[in-house]
Amino acid sequence: MDYQAILNVIEKELKQFNPGGKVPDYIPELSAVSPDKFGMHLYCLSGEHFFFGDSSERFSIQSISKVFTLALAKKYGKKIWRRVDVEPSGDPFNSLTQLEKEKGIPRNPFINAGSLVIADILISHLDNPKKELLEFVQLITQDETINYDEEVAASEKKHGYRNIALVNYMKSLGNIENNADEILDFYFYQCSISMSTEQLAKAFMIFANEGRILETNERVIKPNSVKRINAIMQTCGFYDEAGEFSFRVGLPGKSGVGGGIVAVHPQQYAVAVWSPLLNEKGNSEKGMRALEELTTLTGLSIF
Ligand code: GLU
Repeated sequence: MDYQAILNVIEKELKQFNPGGKVPDYIPELSAVSPDKFGMHLYCLSGEHFFFGDSSERFSIQSISKVFTLALAKKYGKKIWRRVDVEPSGDPFNSLTQLEKEKGIPRNPFINAGSLVIADILISHLDNPKKELLEFVQLITQDETINYDEEVAASEKKHGYRNIALVNYMKSLGNIENNADEILDFYFYQCSISMSTEQLAKAFMIFANEGRILETNERVIKPNSVKRINAIMQTCGFYDEAGEFSFRVGLPGKSGVGGGIVAVHPQQYAVAVWSPLLNEKGNSEKGMRALEELTTLTGLSIF
């Protein structure tokens, strides 16, 4: 498959495409990013790399980090599923309403409430969760330069009223063990990790390669965890637009409000795309379009 030729077509077709939408302003630091950025990187199981545009520029991965924290928490066994469900939410990523009806058990680990519970689990199990998360991401990417962005974390902390409400609400319903401020601090840091599409494609290769790092063949998560995490990406990776992403793209994936989307085709490739303008559901519209073109032009999806 000539992936570079396909990526060149996608770049050409979408360069002038104006998706509308906006850069998020509820995290002030993110609103400073140029809306014209556009890059894509595909990393094949063969070890080859294909890319275009701003593919090596770092941006805020935001909710994409929820996949990394879930992968880390999965090492602690099945108990997490007593505290977080695995159903699509059909509601916005920061919604409070479902929690009341469902007694503090978030619908899935990729909405904010679910990821806050995962953060709580990591804080209970790890001596230094921030350090261990960063080391995990650096390991799977094989890149020690990856880091948190202190300014993005501080910016979100100042304006994180919704997340503050979510964690306190769940605490009142008995689904939070640790101190709310400690959980929020960890959560804002995980969201602030800064990575390029190239680094994201490398990191997510473990989900295309049965839990192994491609370069070293080291197994970092069990194949069974990969199966489950890919299934949750497929059904819950795009807020209340997960059905639309499945319908248009047909791959498991995860988006973030920094404008990044990463998707995997098990046994084939991991791919990431970045375009900061978000649609009403909080997903990068141009990114979705690029991935839709990819699976259309290759004629391959998991379906
Ligand atoms: N840090 C963002 C928040 O908690 C993440 C949202 C996202 O990327 O979906 O609102």
